Amino acid sequence: MKRRQVVAGIGAAALAGAACTRNEGGGEGAAPAQKTFKWKMVTTWPPDFPGLGTGATEVARIIERCSGGRISIKVYGGGELVPAFETFDAVSSGTAEMGHSGAYYWKGKLEASSFFATVPFGMNAQEMNGWLYHGGGWELWKEAYAPFNIMPFPAGNTGVQMGGWFNREIHGVADLKGLKMRIPGLGGEVFRRAGGTPVALAGSEVFTSLQTGVVDAAEWVGPYNDLAFSLHKAAKYYYYPGWHEPGATLECLVNKQAFEALPADLQAIVQTACSSVNDRMLAEFTARSAQALDELVNVHKVKVRAFPDDVLAELRRLTAVVMSETAADDPLFRRVHDSYMEFLARVRGWTRISEQAYLQAR
Ligand code: CA
Repeated sequence: MKRRQVVAGIGAAALAGAACTRNEGGGEGAAPAQKTFKWKMVTTWPPDFPGLGTGATEVARIIERCSGGRISIKVYGGGELVPAFETFDAVSSGTAEMGHSGAYYWKGKLEASSFFATVPFGMNAQEMNGWLYHGGGWELWKEAYAPFNIMPFPAGNTGVQMGGWFNREIHGVADLKGLKMRIPGLGGEVFRRAGGTPVALAGSEVFTSLQTGVVDAAEWVGPYNDLAFSLHKAAKYYYYPGWHEPGATLECLVNKQAFEALPADLQAIVQTACSSVNDRMLAEFTARSAQALDELVNVHKVKVRAFPDDVLAELRRLTAVVMSETAADDPLFRRVHDSYMEFLARVRGWTRISEQAYLQAR
């Protein structure tokens, strides 16, 4: 297929005007000089990890195909070029031109980043996309990452996650006290307020830490990814819902100078590849999680449990406390928080009588 045909087929609406077909730098009828770019993409995922790692690779492959090979991208799993949690710094410094990760991993250096991934009791995937693409969320995200020399792009979503794996049943809030759990982001902070100890671990460490008792509980993603890590072999009870991650957006990070060095058509291809994977990853998680849940329950005999209502109510109360305390200390967090919460307040009225009402009726 000719490059122009490919580009025309990947979501013309998302492309900025005719950027994809403009004849950059060439005279009328002349073939433009085809400068090529060799990029590195670092990720926080184990190499080719289902859904997350393969989603990152898909972004790279779409960019390569649609650019007719003018951009080639070598993808690295966490730890292959830089450690998983140095993905942000590597893109910021230009060690890698691109990265794939989740924004809440950067909470330590940028508190507001959690909103661009997911926050406890926040928006689901559909609502997040509404806020990011049409509610000012992406603009705030770009502003927040600008001092780090990084341009962010939404590039995947897991949908609602699971609440995690536990070795004992949770009957009430008291059962969370003293529990050491792998749980990142703001959810981890809320868990701390509930009496637990949150631990940040990269994906590759989750299984061993849970199996050897370094942690008592762990959340990772949901059935599709948790089965891939065999977490059912390390803990017995599988809790829902994922109150702490109701629709985690994944991100592509692009070094600002690297992006600006691209001609407009290649910039549009990078952007469109990310939005394509933003949709396709959610579709993949939806299909594969259904399949994996069936296997976990019917083959591996996992005990699926719902968090009791009073546990969820307490976690919701503590979430509001953590949010307002953080907002009081951090002006950027407050601005992003206010935009997010205003959008959520508006969209929930619609969600309630559309998706929510329909799902209850089905
Ligand atoms: Ca998670």
